[in-house]
Amino acid sequence: FRAALDAARAAGRTVGLVPTMGYLHEGHASLIRRARAECGAVAVTIFVNPLQFGPAEDLARYPRDLDRDLEICAREGADLVFHPPVEEMYSGDPEVTVSAGPIAGILEGASRPGHFDGVVTVVAKLFNIAGPCRAYFGEKDAQQLVVIRRLARALDFPVEVVGCPTVREPDGLAMSSRNVYLGVEERAAAKALKRGLDRAAKAVEGGERDGRRVAEGMARAVSSEVVARLDYAVCVDPETLAEAAEIAGPVLLAVAARFGSARLIDNVTATPPGARGPDAARGHGGAAIQGGR
Ligand code: AMP
Repeated sequence: FRAALDAARAAGRTVGLVPTMGYLHEGHASLIRRARAECGAVAVTIFVNPLQFGPAEDLARYPRDLDRDLEICAREGADLVFHPPVEEMYSGDPEVTVSAGPIAGILEGASRPGHFDGVVTVVAKLFNIAGPCRAYFGEKDAQQLVVIRRLARALDFPVEVVGCPTVREPDGLAMSSRNVYLGVEERAAAKALKRGLDRAAKAVEGGERDGRRVAEGMARAVSSEVVARLDYAVCVDPETLAEAAEIAGPVLLAVAARFGSARLIDNVTATPPGARGPDAARGHGGAAIQGGR
């Protein structure tokens, strides 16, 4: 895999890397398409990383369909797919792992202890295996994106991390490989996630400055579905993920809830009237990526 990507770089092509756990859907396809549009060589990785699953989580039953995944990769124009067996990535329990730092202990990390250490360990390995590249991740996993940006910066990976918008079903549900766990009633109830987020975003955009009130509104919207078991609903700073008790700039609105055996997460960003948007606030100004393919 590395040799192929070295050859692409030697030929002057920029490498676009799309790390996934497979069971690909339109959300993944959008990342591959974005990489295809911006890079000369596109590599997808498919690896269900045991390190990021807790002991009571869904590792064993996580959905898999390699043949279909390979078709989607081919259809979307990926040049290369890396699909290592677990033993190739880890020979037993790894003795050396990467710590995601304090931001890994809140929100998703509080509900899933060790999850982000598992994520950054596998992503560090994938970055090292792939070499210099642009790596495409979904905003759907907002905290993961923050953690991976920090990983790349803190450990000086020659990787430009690119965040991509969340792809949704027509009724607003964020696409996720885990949506297959939803029964009919749960699938209908799961719409409450985006509904709650949209209402909260509207409130922020309409001038509501009380972050707690915004979060409580989201919590109520999700909990109004009897089959929903809310995990968290928060209004936080998009960069630090610290609670935004008083909203003064762009905020990340994020929710997590269980619907039957499916634990789903979703988020949107919202900007109060008169403030600059999240891209501008991050100093990127929403500018297109520069450079050759
Ligand atoms: P996963 O296979 O769930 O680990 O996801 C692989 C990558 O696809 C991650 O960067 C996710 O954030 C991204 N992703 C998953 N679902 C979506 C979606 N609905 N829209 C955009 N990106 C997504």
